[in-house]
Amino acid sequence: MRAVRMTSPGVLEQVEVPTPTPAAGEVLLAVGAVGACHSDLHILDAPPGLFPTPITLGHETAGTVEAVGAGVTGWTPGDRAAVYGIVGCGTCRGCLRGAENQCRRMPPGGIGLSRDGGLADYVAVPARNLLHVGDLDLTQAAPLTDAGLTPYHAVELARPALRPGTFCVVIGIGGLGHMAVQILTATTAVRIIAVDTSVAALDLATRMGAHHVVQAGPEAVERIREIVGPAPDGADVVIDCVGVDATLTTARTVVATGGKLLLVGLGGGTLPVHPVADAPPTLPLETSVEIPFWGTRAELQEVIALGRAGLISADVQTFPLERAPEAYDLLRRGDIHGRAVVTP
Ligand code: NAD
Ligand code: ZN
Ligand code: ZN
Repeated sequence: MRAVRMTSPGVLEQVEVPTPTPAAGEVLLAVGAVGACHSDLHILDAPPGLFPTPITLGHETAGTVEAVGAGVTGWTPGDRAAVYGIVGCGTCRGCLRGAENQCRRMPPGGIGLSRDGGLADYVAVPARNLLHVGDLDLTQAAPLTDAGLTPYHAVELARPALRPGTFCVVIGIGGLGHMAVQILTATTAVRIIAVDTSVAALDLATRMGAHHVVQAGPEAVERIREIVGPAPDGADVVIDCVGVDATLTTARTVVATGGKLLLVGLGGGTLPVHPVADAPPTLPLETSVEIPFWGTRAELQEVIALGRAGLISADVQTFPLERAPEAYDLLRRGDIHGRAVVTP
């Protein structure tokens, strides 16, 4: 079968590999759609040794059951499914609580991270990682598993602070951010302020329900302040889907006293935290900072429910498998709006 693999650190190419045989407890899925996540670029850029090679990338997968391994019940060929990407150890405190995204033994274990992912004709996954998607289009189902799930989990963490009429700033309106705006619209009554460098991304944010858009840059903080009011008031919640120094500075500058900062983006920036008595603090008092990772299986089921109800939908640009490397090049250049989805 065809697979798009990181054959050695930083090298992405399409190769021929044997079609996997599902082991006991696994299902072989004919891949229908797989989203191209910015994290794949971070994986490609990571220092050698952090991720195994060769590995088939793609951690945002949906497909049709082709075959089932020994002992699998509840799935039959032809069933359509979305893949929950995290494979936890199953026995640590995080996993036992149902939060495999907090697995303490094997982070970041996952399909397309520590074992072969969905950028291929077929992928073998543990049966327990599959969720039914009903009649949802697979190009819609795939992005829900990460671009949908990760901001949904972030919103869940922040939900007590997302009171009607308060402000939530979403920074970075790409694959994750444009879903974050829709999730906030569908599940809260907050005022959404979308921030991005790209005008096209801001247009997308408006279409997805953002109440205000602010172009990132030197005047962004001032523009956001005009909306949320002067410090120490501000946005009750800031979701940073970029995570570089510039966005972290904006985030900590506009968050309200007692607000919540959710650092979703893995851009490599630094958030200074040093409360001092004789200088302005780097973060307002009582502010909490959380670093959400992906989400739980139960949350994915809720995200799929939102998708099936038509309350959220990814703005998708599709590419055949042989154009997957090009899709990642476009993503790196900032030329993908919404989510690029590869359809093997
Ligand atoms: P994307 O490339 O689709 O979107 C990024 C968006 O950020 C683009 O619209 C871009 O224009 C905008 N942007 C870039 N620099 C900016 C800046 N300085 N100010 C404002 N906007 C800026 O990426 P994505 O797939 O949505 O992923 C976003 C980030 O989230 C990545 O770092 C990714 O690795 C990370 N991520 C984290 C998790 C997690 O579990 N924490 C899960 C998935 C992705
Ligand atoms: Zn991802
Ligand atoms: Zn675990």
